[in-house]
Amino acid sequence: MKFLFVEIIFPLLVLLFLRSVLKSIVAGFRSASAPQNRARQAPPQVSVGGELKKDPVCGTYVSTAGSLSQKVNGQLVYFCSAACRDKYRVA
Ligand SMILES: [Zn+2]
Repeated sequence: MKFLFVEIIFPLLVLLFLRSVLKSIVAGFRSASAPQNRARQAPPQVSVGGELKKDPVCGTYVSTAGSLSQKVNGQLVYFCSAACRDKYRVA
């Protein structure tokens, strides 16, 4: 039984260990160079669904599904952020 361990199980364990080490090294390399790639791949947070409407304060186009809205004179106006909504209210 000792022969079986040394000749088969031990090499297998070493192999598995080396594989996990290699994987973590590769993952480390990827995460080290990832921030730029991720920023490039991330789509603009605009078209989540719904219609695109222009934020009257800053001019950004926002989707009606994922944005703040405010009823002004019976019409829904969409804003990219609460800050823009508050500015619009004040103006
Ligand atoms: Zn805005």
